[in-house]
Amino acid sequence: MNKLNKECIIPISETTDFTIENLPMGIFSYKDKNKKLGMAIGEYVVDLEYLWRKGLLDRIFDKNVFDSNTLNKFIASGKNKWSLTRKKIQSLLTGKHPKFTKTKKEWLLLQQKVILHFPLKVGDYTDFYSSEAHAANVGRLFRKNEDPLLPNWKHMPIAYHGRSSSLMLSGSPIIRPWGQILNKQNEPEFHPTKSLDFELELAMVIGKSTKNGTPININNAKEHLFGFVLLNDWSARDIQRWEYQPLGPFLGKNFATTISPWVVTMEALEPFLCDGPIQNPPVLSYLTQNKGMHLDINLDVTLTTNKQNKLKITGTNSKNIYWSFAQQLAHHTINGCNVNIGDLMASGTISGEKEGEWGSLLEISFNGTKALKIENESRTFIEDGDSISINGIAENKEFRVGFGSLENKVLPAIKME
Ligand code: CA
Repeated sequence: MNKLNKECIIPISETTDFTIENLPMGIFSYKDKNKKLGMAIGEYVVDLEYLWRKGLLDRIFDKNVFDSNTLNKFIASGKNKWSLTRKKIQSLLTGKHPKFTKTKKEWLLLQQKVILHFPLKVGDYTDFYSSEAHAANVGRLFRKNEDPLLPNWKHMPIAYHGRSSSLMLSGSPIIRPWGQILNKQNEPEFHPTKSLDFELELAMVIGKSTKNGTPININNAKEHLFGFVLLNDWSARDIQRWEYQPLGPFLGKNFATTISPWVVTMEALEPFLCDGPIQNPPVLSYLTQNKGMHLDINLDVTLTTNKQNKLKITGTNSKNIYWSFAQQLAHHTINGCNVNIGDLMASGTISGEKEGEWGSLLEISFNGTKALKIENESRTFIEDGDSISINGIAENKEFRVGFGSLENKVLPAIKME
């Protein structure tokens, strides 16, 4: 625990994700009142709307942006104001402002007592495919006998456009989807998926809009980012396998994608920027980046069965990704495609090289052929009543910056007539 967190006017535990260096932002409501903006600190939420109303933030914002259903208006205020707000809250939390140290109860609410809401208005959602280990594992499982990576993979960050209507928050139930699935005779049948899976991902939140026709320069990419969330790209492998050629994922993916409630800001993640893998062959000029465009975030996944047996099934790090977030954003916009505040762009499944570091059950169970032992149970894919929880923590000798938890439980398929 460093000095700054020891100075905090509320107790901060050694193991909290939400340190003074973090202060991630989200949307909460308290006692059935309006949704508003908050920052997480230790076990508490800072009520930003209350602080603005009491005149503590009015020199930064002349009108209230904190009484809102989403973070979008705050994000639109720009990078300087994000930073000023963060510094102001840091000074309040370390007792450096005389007015509010005595009345802490009113602007600090226990997280247990508030309801967290989906924090963004997301116009567009894109999902990349940026981890080499994952792309190679999937290539081996889906297209046996061929080169696991397709010829374009090392020349550009591959992606597909996802669906924003089914983006949901941590805690939302995931209803097992129905779909067309091939039987053993290779004939399509209609039934609920038998291979429901998760994908461990990080997603960037766009912080600055662009005009159509103006690409984002790779060395400017960071300026367009507000922050990151954890993301689970729920996937029905049997539906995906039958539908994905020639245009890519559709109903195997678009039924649910979930994110963590707190957006960890780019500013809080700056100390954890690092280099990624060496890229060979060399990339084209618009994808050539400065050093330090990867993020050093430890990520893990725990499966809790419907009988409450738990197993950590994955531990990996986002610095393993082949294509950086800067390369993803530069590539996404190189043709003039514009981006908007609140857009989400996910990394793609983050897998490491070795077993134990893989970011989906497709890989962990070798496409359902090798069962995981969880106490006296076994799993190849996710069963009804099981939960998947994802955690992410960036840490150095001084402090940690964590994402909190992204956890969702799977419910049985709906009954069809
Ligand atoms: Ca994905």
